[in-house]
Amino acid sequence: MPFTPQFSWDFLPYDEIEARTIRALKNHIDYLKRDSEYYRELLVDINSADINCLEDIHMIPFTEKDTLSEMSHRFRVASEEQIVETVVTSGSTGVPLMFPLTASDIDRLAYNESLSFYSAGVTSRDRAQIMVSLDRLFIAGMAYYRGLIALGANTARLGVLTPEMQQHYIELMRPTVLIGVPSYLLKLGEQLKQGGVDLENFTIQKIFCIGESIRDESMKLTATADKIEKLFGAHVYSTYASTEVASTFCECTERFGGHAHPELGYVEILDSNGDPVPDGTVGELVVTTFGVEGVPLLRYKTGDLTFKVPGECACGRHSMRIGPIMSRKAQLVKYKGTTLYPMTITNVLDSMPEVQDYIIELKGREGAPSEEMFVHAAVKPLLVTQIMTKIQAAARVNIPVLVSNAATINSMRGDNRKKIRLIDNRSKQ
Ligand SMILES: [Zn+2]
Repeated sequence: MPFTPQFSWDFLPYDEIEARTIRALKNHIDYLKRDSEYYRELLVDINSADINCLEDIHMIPFTEKDTLSEMSHRFRVASEEQIVETVVTSGSTGVPLMFPLTASDIDRLAYNESLSFYSAGVTSRDRAQIMVSLDRLFIAGMAYYRGLIALGANTARLGVLTPEMQQHYIELMRPTVLIGVPSYLLKLGEQLKQGGVDLENFTIQKIFCIGESIRDESMKLTATADKIEKLFGAHVYSTYASTEVASTFCECTERFGGHAHPELGYVEILDSNGDPVPDGTVGELVVTTFGVEGVPLLRYKTGDLTFKVPGECACGRHSMRIGPIMSRKAQLVKYKGTTLYPMTITNVLDSMPEVQDYIIELKGREGAPSEEMFVHAAVKPLLVTQIMTKIQAAARVNIPVLVSNAATINSMRGDNRKKIRLIDNRSKQ
């Protein structure tokens, strides 16, 4: 039986989605008050009957990442017998946060991912290769796998392999869909190209990019994403999710913002006072998760900054879309009176092939009127002025660029498993 999105609310009229969302919020409040120890206490003065329109959600307190980290067991709804898998996410204090899942949670994740891939045009005729970790307690690879299987696609669980092994399986399976982290895919594409492999002549059509934004604030592809498209001769699609959020914002065939799944959760984008921001304005993504049994959440502050894409999507879906994740809230920098997204600077540096490697270092006191920021770049000294001019044009501030080398930059990353682009050495207040 091919996958059919029979439960999706995506194409319902806006007012029907809103009416269903209000009902789902009421049910969620009743459910949490009944079954979650944490929310029973938090919502002692709030009842589902108080929610009569979407604006009424503002009377409900937020759930902070710190609170979840400190007492996740109190959020839990499912009993020990119902838990079938445990995944781990990085807690706000650096201590891993255990996230229990029930069989229903895993089915829900599969539905969520199959709906996301379906909206991007993936079908049971596709051959997909998952090039992210499927083990080490990560949720993402498992969710993609389940979703693609539910969709009926021929799915290969490759994980993160060497370029030679990836090449072998690309030639063997002739995939139409790849799923991976942009910086990894770029490196893979470049290494294969250097080895004489002509990826453009393969069958790859769609590349789903996770973990790093592939668009800037104006929705234009980043330099990295643009290079991936050219190397593979395929289209890139942004897909964003997190363990806590438990649903995905994936770009549809129109590739202009990631669609939410309204039946799986309610999404808000709020300013630092907790008020909604206008469409197109950057704010913090706040998510309420419907139908989760392990760790259900209500008004959870993700710490990720993005914006709602204005207008209607040409695909005909009426579910809201978000733009790229502009930054983690904690990584926003106040620099010379301007609030700066580190992404603005990484996009400049990624677009310059002369820059072998780089890292942005934040210093000074966090929250001070002007924090310090340096770019350490592995480049020839002659290029420094050119880089500073380009950064000035994009970010409208002057940032010191220090000449460094690849080994020093790598040592600054410590034992981080990701090739991080930003290191926060700010002192706390
Ligand atoms: Zn769309």
